[in-house]
Amino acid sequence: MTFARASTAAILDQDAHLIQSFADLNALKAQGARTVISRAEGAYVYDNDGQKMIDGIAGLWCVNIGHGRREMIEAIANQLQTLDYYSTFYNFTHPTAAALSQKLAELAPGDLNAVYFGNSGSVANDSAIRILHHYNIRKGRPNKLKVLSRHGAYHGSTHLSMAMTTPGYSEGWTAASELVHHLRAPHHWREGGEMTEAEFLDALALDLSQSIDRIGAENICAFIAEPIQGAGGVIAAPQGYHRRMQEICRAHDIKYIADEVVTAFGRLGHFFASEAVFDTTPDIINTAKGLTSGYQPMSATIVSDEIHDVISGPDGMFLHGMTYSGHPAAAAAALTNIAIMEREAIPERVRTTGAYFERKLRGLSDIELVGEVRGSHFMIGIEFVKDRTTKESHPAEVEVGLKVARACQKRGLIARPLGNVLILSPTLIMDEAMIDEIEGILREAITEVAAGL
Ligand code: PMP
Repeated sequence: MTFARASTAAILDQDAHLIQSFADLNALKAQGARTVISRAEGAYVYDNDGQKMIDGIAGLWCVNIGHGRREMIEAIANQLQTLDYYSTFYNFTHPTAAALSQKLAELAPGDLNAVYFGNSGSVANDSAIRILHHYNIRKGRPNKLKVLSRHGAYHGSTHLSMAMTTPGYSEGWTAASELVHHLRAPHHWREGGEMTEAEFLDALALDLSQSIDRIGAENICAFIAEPIQGAGGVIAAPQGYHRRMQEICRAHDIKYIADEVVTAFGRLGHFFASEAVFDTTPDIINTAKGLTSGYQPMSATIVSDEIHDVISGPDGMFLHGMTYSGHPAAAAAALTNIAIMEREAIPERVRTTGAYFERKLRGLSDIELVGEVRGSHFMIGIEFVKDRTTKESHPAEVEVGLKVARACQKRGLIARPLGNVLILSPTLIMDEAMIDEIEGILREAITEVAAGL
């Protein structure tokens, strides 16, 4: 079956039945408020009326190898012809999920050698906590269930993963919040006050230690952290933060979970960022997005041998499972995606091109509206401010991020607004000329919006 090309008006009529994610659903009812993306190729997407745009956010920081790769499409089709679906429930498995689990064990740092597959980052994070609850119950510690997360975090949209997300995201709209305690956001520029970065790091470490003392280590199963906070506004912690946090957690027998849903698979120049960039070996790494470059939905919760040994010990079942865990088509997509990344040395290339991207975008700080350009490699946030000295923000109703994103889109670049922050997380196949083009569009768009405020 092929799907006939419809007019934009006809698609929008049908789309009245679709509930968008993270959207002002009321505002979307207005004429022209939705963008229909109909086609994609390489680093570009096309709207239904043919406007070509640079995909400055790689879908949702996921299409790392770029759109429309024949090799991916063929691998998925070949897999479906051989085995369209079978589960990894009970005693069943299949060759593609098995091969992928071995490959991920090879790529992941330390003794992270066992993989639980899911189909989204939210599910990967939920699964990690369920696995640790199971682990602690098996170890005779039924109260060791709570999770330490951070303000500024984004871990997903199921009840538990949203509870671990920064409170501002859910506005209390989650059922699992009693399980989670939020530590301070590790954002020196916004939260550090007069402290140096080193002093701020001490304050963050103290916050962790005091929180553990207050809640009781015997009640805490895990600390969860994105190596760089993404959807909370692209916040990189002070140098040495992750290692310091991990050491405190280790001392209290609290597992360290790295949410590498965004940072893995090349975005920061490595297959996994935890060890290579941040000098930490987590007990669990969760990933999704770049695992398949978005060609199929898939996530992986990769756990240490020690955790695996406990949950696979005698006496008792592992009562956790999703129908599509390790789906053959998704596993085929992931294996092919990894093969492409290895063959084309994409993570290694990002160490150069991503560094260039970061450097170019940091140059936008010379525009008065820009308060901070932050992040690393192909994961960048630009925060706009009303006053650079006081760091005062424009009121939310000014929608400064949205205005800049619209000004970018008009010029052929998709960027993602998030309050006063604009996020750029393009495909990892950018060359310097494309990066220059992105920087040029951003400069024009920001300057135009600044002039109109
Ligand atoms: N963790 C992080 C760090 C994320 O950025 C996201 C999604 N943006 C998620 C988890 C949730 O992933 P998903 O949307 O696939 O459920």
